[in-house]
Amino acid sequence: MTALSSALVARLRRNLLRHYDRHQRDLPWRRTSDPYAIWVSEVMLQQTRVETVRERWTQFLERFPDLAVLARAREQSVLKAWEGLGYYRRARSLHKAAKVVLAEHGGRLPDEVDALRALPGFGDYTAAAVGSIAFGRRAAVVDGNVIRVLTRLLDDDGDVTRAATKRRIQAAADRLLAPRRPGDWNQALMELGATVCTPRSPSCLLCPLQRDCAGRAAGRAEELPVKPARGPTPHHDIAAGLVWRGDRLLIARRPADGLLGGLWEFPGGKRRDGESLAEACVREVREETGLEVTSPEPFLSLDHAYTHFRITLHLFHCVSEHGTPRPLGCEAPRFVSVDELDRYPFPRANRRALDALQTAGAGGHPRA
Ligand code: SF4
Repeated sequence: MTALSSALVARLRRNLLRHYDRHQRDLPWRRTSDPYAIWVSEVMLQQTRVETVRERWTQFLERFPDLAVLARAREQSVLKAWEGLGYYRRARSLHKAAKVVLAEHGGRLPDEVDALRALPGFGDYTAAAVGSIAFGRRAAVVDGNVIRVLTRLLDDDGDVTRAATKRRIQAAADRLLAPRRPGDWNQALMELGATVCTPRSPSCLLCPLQRDCAGRAAGRAEELPVKPARGPTPHHDIAAGLVWRGDRLLIARRPADGLLGGLWEFPGGKRRDGESLAEACVREVREETGLEVTSPEPFLSLDHAYTHFRITLHLFHCVSEHGTPRPLGCEAPRFVSVDELDRYPFPRANRRALDALQTAGAGGHPRA
């Protein structure tokens, strides 16, 4: 692995910042100095593509223009504004942190990295990103893009999931951080990873660091970073009910502390071995809400991928004649009209089913 001499560090800083000054993307959050707005952008940018964030960041700030408005909003409104962005834990943490900042910091984000890190949802990455970009603190960010650039630049072939490699990368990021422009440096390094030093076919000929890149010199930039091989992605069949009572549909909220917590969905769950999808649908509705449903009829099957697994969601129209839904494996189950569904935040797979339902017309009810 390449040692970072003072001369090399100075040259790398100079070359990358010059490149950034000339070629940086025009992104709306780069035109503000409002720490709250910068924080929202950094949270959104984790796990979401820049092009998506561009539009959604503006909409989110129109809905919650400052930290106090966000802190006082209902969680459901925040989740609704986040709908479709995925990784909803980010939205819940953003909301929680806003409440803490309002209660304990007078509504202003603290400007020290350690104080930021103490807020809900602020890991090392967010604390360093907000600290450096909004407040000029000397904190180096390490995300997937930075890991890729640095392992290639330094020709580090250690497994990046191992603690020793992580420590080496963090040490290199700390050493390289440009002390007078830490926020720009961090953004420049991340942007280089996103636009030039891409996972496949890096554009080394356009790269401002090519002269000093040890991975390129060794002819193995594309093999870095080294990660352990992943096994096959698990797949689950999920059966769920579009449970009708008259022209109203049954929905329920997912428990707050799990995957997609706080979002609404049609009751359902994993099919068990030996069970038909229709049987799984009837059983899941019963286990989650205590309701007995009859005559499940297939409506739609759709595929959806999460980070660590894939699902096929199979939806069945079915009917519940009587009984009050109970929160057995869910929260706040209720019947609502099709028009009311738009007020509730749904995970993406359920939202796609809803769109299909609304497109089907007549509420999509097979007996309407
Ligand atoms: Fe990445 Fe190529 Fe630049 Fe090295 S020269 S940092 S591999 S784009």
